[in-house]
Amino acid sequence: MAATPRGTSPVSPDARPRLTVLSGPSGVGKSTVVAHMRKVHPEVWLSVSATTRKPRPGERHGVQYFFVDDEEFDKLVANGELLEWAEFAGNRYGTPRKAVQDRLEAGEPVLLEIDLQGARQVRESMKEAQLVFLAPPSWEELVRRLTGRGTEAPEVIERRLTAAKVELAAEAEFDETLVNTSVEDVSRELLALMKVL
Ligand code: 5GP
Repeated sequence: MAATPRGTSPVSPDARPRLTVLSGPSGVGKSTVVAHMRKVHPEVWLSVSATTRKPRPGERHGVQYFFVDDEEFDKLVANGELLEWAEFAGNRYGTPRKAVQDRLEAGEPVLLEIDLQGARQVRESMKEAQLVFLAPPSWEELVRRLTGRGTEAPEVIERRLTAAKVELAAEAEFDETLVNTSVEDVSRELLALMKVL
């Protein structure tokens, strides 16, 4: 089945690259979509967030995240170095501001993969940003994906499911919705929204 764009906003005639925010419930497959997209289009720049979460097996500092401790994160916040940040399921996550600004000034499309609270902050500070919601094909599928990842403790999964219910209700705040039925289709849709294709 193809990814279904359910957006309501008209396509902007302005072809300048802009900031695109991909958000959606934890476990919906945002990082899989982004990883696939970058394999096919390595020129698309994805912001690397700072987080206080511990690395999962295979994750590397500076690649998936900048892994920092609480004190370092406090400093990033205090110095205004984060474009947005949020606490999610007991850890903090934030987007380093300067790298994003540099890319936008260079005229390159920029993609952020962040949670709902972060998406709302970006909407407030950058009106021109394009907010894209990645929705699961169904609630059952989301539960299956979150439970099946096998890397998280049961209480962590429980917290993420609670957060996911709140996040699903926020779809209407977004400019576009893509339903994650196929990684390839969603990646293509996202690239089209970013005007890379
Ligand atoms: P995970 O721990 O599974 O890598 O990420 C948990 C959640 O944090 C995901 O929904 C992810 O999109 C979000 N996230 C990752 N980086 C950032 C960030 O820089 N800011 C915000 N607000 N959320 C982020």
